[in-house]
Amino acid sequence: MYTFGIDIGSTTSKCVVMEDGQNIVGTSLLVGGIGTRSPELAVSQALENAGVTWDDLTATAATGYGRNRYEGADYNVSELSCHGLGAHHTFPTVRTIIDIGGQDAKVISLDEKGRMNNFLMNDKCAAGTGRFLDVMANILVVPVDEFAQYCEKSVNPAQISSTCTVFAESEVISQLANGVEMEDLIAGICSSVAVRVGNLAKRINIVPDVCMSGGVAQNAGVRNALSRSIGQPILFSPQAQLFGAIGAALYAYQKQVKK
Ligand code: ADP
Repeated sequence: MYTFGIDIGSTTSKCVVMEDGQNIVGTSLLVGGIGTRSPELAVSQALENAGVTWDDLTATAATGYGRNRYEGADYNVSELSCHGLGAHHTFPTVRTIIDIGGQDAKVISLDEKGRMNNFLMNDKCAAGTGRFLDVMANILVVPVDEFAQYCEKSVNPAQISSTCTVFAESEVISQLANGVEMEDLIAGICSSVAVRVGNLAKRINIVPDVCMSGGVAQNAGVRNALSRSIGQPILFSPQAQLFGAIGAALYAYQKQVKK
């Protein structure tokens, strides 16, 4: 049985085709989220990648910020549940998930069976989200996927004291003008996001194992700084940005099995 998960985010569209609630047989990840053509293109790409058609799918589920505007799915599921399911599928021992996406950050705690028992969310402020990193990447003209390489070279990370993205933007520009090294600035930017999200996580009981989900998980600069901030190792999967879509495909599968 094939099930399909689509995660329509604020910045990126992700899809997963799953066979029998176990194997991932096709995926897609396209920049462009809600309100763009990316969700539609991501659906076709994942189906092509899996070598199946829409008619081969037994059930589909949509999640993510744009899930309510997507009409093609059988089920509409919250991101919290989907990240929980996706992370538990990948790391069965995981009890705490730190999800940093394009416009919010969430900390989700799971029981030993992978069921969500608590969560906290920051969706009021861009600082502490991928948005903060994307804004800084634009100013520095360094793509976010190169941030980790810069962090590795940093010996004296810059302090970013502003807690507001707009003020932090001016602060970064003035540090650039003062000749602060690019690697130190980028390490300071990654650390600023990590400390904010780390402080959010510390408001919940952080039970190991801990993993990250969402696109910012790919940034080893943030991941390492977050691990230092919470005092715990963080499990990483290259599929972390797909956890929401994996969870949606699993949700659709579980609904069929329970019928
Ligand atoms: P959303 O679901 O809100 O669209 P995602 O979980 O897909 O968000 O994450 C998007 C964020 O991930 C972007 O804001 C960007 O900062 C970050 N990101 C995406 N790819 C990478 C990468 N290769 N390296 C570092 N950061 C990345």
